[in-house]
Amino acid sequence: MKNRMTLTFDSRSENESLARVTVSGFMAPLDPTMEEMMDVKTVVSEAVTNAIIHGYDSEDGKDIELHCAYENDELVIVISDNGSGIEDVEMAKEPLYTSKPELERSGMGFTIMENFMDHVLVTSSPGNGTRVELRK
Ligand code: ATP
Ligand code: MG
Repeated sequence: MKNRMTLTFDSRSENESLARVTVSGFMAPLDPTMEEMMDVKTVVSEAVTNAIIHGYDSEDGKDIELHCAYENDELVIVISDNGSGIEDVEMAKEPLYTSKPELERSGMGFTIMENFMDHVLVTSSPGNGTRVELRK
């Protein structure tokens, strides 16, 4: 069984739930457990929130792309933005590291992604944007 989809949406907080609902609909044919579905929705939310508040500094009307695919039982989700990018990806992934403590972020987004998914690949270039690939 094989399928794929790509969606581009505006950097608006309303679109976090759009991304969650889209991914859960897309993965439904794989018959995920409730827990798997919740985990995937949570990580998608974390990555989309990061694109909005960090990538685009909460500016709306910028492009965020959600790409999802599965082949047999392997699900791949890619969330990308063309925003500020990350200078030091290893540091950004450290638990509790946040560049926006003033917004009361806890610095746990990447840690949650790594705990809930089997593979997390972050590629980023400062000034050009960030791509987060999540596999389960
Ligand atoms: P939390 O997710 O707990 O609310 P957070 O977003 O700061 O807090 P992470 O999601 O782990 O924590 O991200 C860590 C840091 O990585 C961010 O503070 C930010 O500096 C950087 N970052 C993450 N995603 C992006 C992105 N798409 N574009 C630019 N910087 C990013
Ligand atoms: Mg975050």
